[in-house]
Amino acid sequence: MAHKNHAEVAIIGGGIMGSAIAYYVSKAGMDCMLIEKNDIASGTSSRCDGNVTIVDKDPGFDSKMSLVSQELTLALKDDLNIPFEYRELGSILVCDNDEEMEAATEWVKIQKEAGLKFNVLDREDIRQESPYFADDIPGGLECETDSLINPYLYCYSLVERAKQYGLKLHTQTEVKNIKKQDDFIIETTNGTFTAEKVVNAAGVWAPYIGKMLDIDIPIIPRKGHIMVGSRQKPVMMRNVMEFGYLMNKFQRERIADPETLKHGVALVLEPTESQNFLLGSSREFAGFDGRVDINVVKTMAKRALRFFPKMNDFNMIRAYTGFRPWTEDHLPIVSSVEEVPGFFIAAGHEGDGISLATVTGKLIEELVAEKETIIPVDPLRFDRFKKVPTA
Ligand SMILES: Cc1cc2nc3c(=O)[nH]c(=O)nc-3n(C[C@H](O)[C@H](O)[C@H](O)COP(=O)(O)OP(=O)(O)OC[C@H]3O[C@@H](n4cnc5c(N)ncnc54)[C@H](O)[C@@H]3O)c2cc1C
Repeated sequence: MAHKNHAEVAIIGGGIMGSAIAYYVSKAGMDCMLIEKNDIASGTSSRCDGNVTIVDKDPGFDSKMSLVSQELTLALKDDLNIPFEYRELGSILVCDNDEEMEAATEWVKIQKEAGLKFNVLDREDIRQESPYFADDIPGGLECETDSLINPYLYCYSLVERAKQYGLKLHTQTEVKNIKKQDDFIIETTNGTFTAEKVVNAAGVWAPYIGKMLDIDIPIIPRKGHIMVGSRQKPVMMRNVMEFGYLMNKFQRERIADPETLKHGVALVLEPTESQNFLLGSSREFAGFDGRVDINVVKTMAKRALRFFPKMNDFNMIRAYTGFRPWTEDHLPIVSSVEEVPGFFIAAGHEGDGISLATVTGKLIEELVAEKETIIPVDPLRFDRFKKVPTA
């Protein structure tokens, strides 16, 4: 019988990555433990939106990975017992001006050529979406397959099901040190555990786990703010972002006022199932300072009024912040680590972790078991960050 302090696979971090990995690894029949320093979904995965989107992905590998993740998430609905507010309504991007409209039309063309379900929306289509939209929005685009989930519930749903497949769960257990002998020896605030393989799914804290094994993981926190709107008549039914969001995310040049640019603000509006709405967001490098900055909140509110002028009369309940685990090339690390055999990383999903969690869970299960992977993992390798020595 398997010992309770030992597992074939130990996962560190009970965010959406750790939860999805725990689900797939346990389901595959491997002996698995999940170690989380607080509670499930206590990190970034409960301080975010719940968009499972392709609309904001670069065409190519990025969008392909998202599409596979969407398909897997949809399929999981049948195996998970706790509902996670899955809604497949598509999502839209709205444009601020005619130049953005031109760029959006081009974006749709590229995504369609890649086989994705994108459509251009004109002024009239936008009016049909919501009676609250400003009259002068020239149009936008939609991605039909995008969906919304409640990430917090999704984590719990995955972990509960994983427990039925045999997962050993250790919450309120912080990993303090890891040593590699034949097995990994994982020292925590709640005792010592051993495992043959370790998966580092600690999000923005993944570099600290890496350091324990002398591994440098280039992930840094990119802070985001969100406001929560009070429950009321639906603003709209599906997720909406502005085209400028793409410019912020990929750090491309964008025309906007200085405050908007300084705080990396772009409109994102997510209707929750209970019809509160989440209004965001910002993108900034501010270390691990999680305080709400009223200047950022004001800038977000101003940006929202550009697209929804009638929001002036709406009530906001609160604001919160989260840390996106950012990597330099905007792709996550889903990889083994050559220097430490048996050590895997599943982190660095920046603003895409909700969209990409399911496929990440599946990929890690396949990597750990040395199976063929559902999509190629070369672009996600850890060693892509190794500096090439200059002559
Ligand atoms: C404002 C905002 C909006 C976002 N909106 C979206 C969106 O709409 N769609 C989308 O796809 N993505 C979105 N994201 C991104 C998404 O939230 C993240 O990519 C994702 O949550 C990262 O998940 P994770 O499991 O890697 O990290 P986390 O959820 O942070 O999980 C890591 C876990 O590791 C634990 N941990 C850390 N150190 C230790 C230790 N020493 N021992 C044990 N446990 C430890 C932490 O407590 C934490 O629970 C958004 C992010 C933000 C900030």
